[in-house]
Amino acid sequence: MELINSLLAVNANYILIGLMVLFYSLEQLLTTQFNFTKRPQHLFQNSLFYVAFFLGNLLWSSVTVFSIEWLNNQQVGLFYLVHLPLWLKLLLGVAMFDLVSYWFHRLAHVVPLLWRFHRVHHSDTTMDASTNFRAHPLEIIFWFGSSSILAAAIFGLNLLTLGLYFFIATFFFFLEHANLRFPKWIDKSFGLVFTTPNLHKVHHEQDQHYTDSNFSDIFILWDRLFGTFKSKPVEQIKFGLKEFDEEKKQSFWYLMKSPFLEIKRVESEELNKTTSAK
Ligand SMILES: [Zn+2]
Ligand SMILES: [Zn+2]
Repeated sequence: MELINSLLAVNANYILIGLMVLFYSLEQLLTTQFNFTKRPQHLFQNSLFYVAFFLGNLLWSSVTVFSIEWLNNQQVGLFYLVHLPLWLKLLLGVAMFDLVSYWFHRLAHVVPLLWRFHRVHHSDTTMDASTNFRAHPLEIIFWFGSSSILAAAIFGLNLLTLGLYFFIATFFFFLEHANLRFPKWIDKSFGLVFTTPNLHKVHHEQDQHYTDSNFSDIFILWDRLFGTFKSKPVEQIKFGLKEFDEEKKQSFWYLMKSPFLEIKRVESEELNKTTSAK
């Protein structure tokens, strides 16, 4: 408990920057899964999203904190109806935040307006740990803020549980996007319950058949349970979205504008036609 409290007392931005430095260095030092040049430029573009996230989050995090504290004061939510030990409350709470986030993520793939924002995260053609930062700031407002408030309202979760969830999820996000080699046994064991890096990479495959799978942040159990689990050998994965394949469409400014542009999604059948025609 003491440990959790002291970990959560650390400014979240220090954790994010610290993990970015750690993973970027590991990707430089260890054998990477994929080779790509222009890493510094790629890091720079994705870091601009971090700045945008930081600014957007200044406002939104206070709305989230205020709303959850208000809900807790009113004792709204299922956990207020049962008596559970603290450790179990924390464990189930983290799982419930992850469950609600899973459904928000699925929604972002099917609702055209939400996909316009979410596709920014999927647009990266050369994925590494910095892809973790690539998300439209307006999506963060919709997704992380509203899914956290909704989960807190349904299950009666508090800010301590939310902090713990973000702490664990952030570590998973860096691991999932890192351009590092992960042995297959990790998928066969750990991957029965948790989202492993290789499983999240399937979610970044260009082919929509795979893009619409493995939505979970921490527990891949949700995909297994709701029928959206898919696997594909990681060395066969082509990252990104066909409609964002050009270099100029990988820049921060283009991607920030992209939700407001009319960009047609390339469906699996069209993608297969273009790749077999080559
Ligand atoms: Zn997605
Ligand atoms: Zn991702």
